[in-house]
Amino acid sequence: MTDITIALSKGRIFDDTAPLLKAAGIEALDDPESSRKLILATNRNNVRLIIVRASDVPTYVQYGAADLGIAGKDVLLEHGGIGLYQPLDLNIARCRMMVAAPESFDYDSAVRKGARLRIATKYLQTAREHFANKGMHVDLIKLYGSMELAPLVGLADAIVDLVSSGNTLKANHLKAVEEIMPISSRLIINQAALKLKRTIIQPVLEAFSQAIEH
Ligand code: ATP
Ligand code: MG
Repeated sequence: MTDITIALSKGRIFDDTAPLLKAAGIEALDDPESSRKLILATNRNNVRLIIVRASDVPTYVQYGAADLGIAGKDVLLEHGGIGLYQPLDLNIARCRMMVAAPESFDYDSAVRKGARLRIATKYLQTAREHFANKGMHVDLIKLYGSMELAPLVGLADAIVDLVSSGNTLKANHLKAVEEIMPISSRLIINQAALKLKRTIIQPVLEAFSQAIEH
């Protein structure tokens, strides 16, 4: 067992991880944006990359189908982190988990009055915990994407979603009304793999740690 598999999602995670991998001496032989391959060989014959949906990365690592992975804190909170060692915040794919509502909606006053709000989100666990901590009763509606639409068509009063520039909110006449937490991506490691494959994983961990931008 001297081979390792690293699970990544394409797009911003892959793009932001490539320089870290390079610092660890690992380079993909194909570009996941143009290749249809889901298993990518690298310049190192004992390291391969698998390309999975961002929210599936923790699952592949939890079950040991991948030894390492890179996943957003948003995704890790929804997954729960079972079986995962999370040694490094890589400080990449940074954004913020926010509550957002229509520009015309007086969120603070609704909160003060103890109104029961309908919240649409892909991030049920995070939203549930946030509103529970505020002592608010909310009805959560699970969506898989395009959360910004929900308040515009009366599906929800507000949304919980990731925001970076705020341009998507603005384009849909929404505003951020509350920050839940800052989000970045972390290196995750299968707990058993870390013990069994330490000689190959440890140098990768150290190279990543050196290469992180603070
Ligand atoms: P999919 O787009 O496949 O439905 P996803 O939105 O979870 O899934 P990505 O868009 O690739 O996947 O995002 C991957 C990770 O990058 C997210 O889990 C999050 O941590 C972070 N992220 C998401 N949106 C942004 C953003 N606008 N700016 C910076 N980081 C973001
Ligand atoms: Mg996305």
